[in-house]
Amino acid sequence: MSLKGYGLLIDYEFCSGCHSCEVACKNERNIPLGKWGIKVETIGPWKAEGDRYEFNHIPCPTSLCNLCEERIAKGKKPSCVHHCLCQVMDYGPIDELAKKAAEKGSKVVMFLP
Ligand code: SF4
Ligand code: SF4
Repeated sequence: MSLKGYGLLIDYEFCSGCHSCEVACKNERNIPLGKWGIKVETIGPWKAEGDRYEFNHIPCPTSLCNLCEERIAKGKKPSCVHHCLCQVMDYGPIDELAKKAAEKGSKVVMFLP
């Protein structure tokens, strides 16, 4: 199955930084120690405007991500999407994801392998 035109959408505003997506991906894809199919990076905290602080966890898929093509072929969701504890990850055709991202409006990233 070709996954051209499909991607991942991550609403990082509500990502807790739990790293479950990293672990789920490593287990699913047998990714060796020191490498990741998706890696959660933390930005901040630093002082932003006024009394506000900027602090985000942002999961970044890597070149080892194949969008879980074996799971998709069986009608399942990608492992990271399935195991995300905060349900902030989504998968699908990029036009649908782009629509959801536009509705969300901020703190959302789309990944196309
Ligand atoms: S879609 Fe699959 S391969 Fe890609 S980051 Fe998620 S678990 Fe890893
Ligand atoms: S599993 Fe979900 S909530 Fe946890 S770090 Fe990954 S994207 Fe964030």
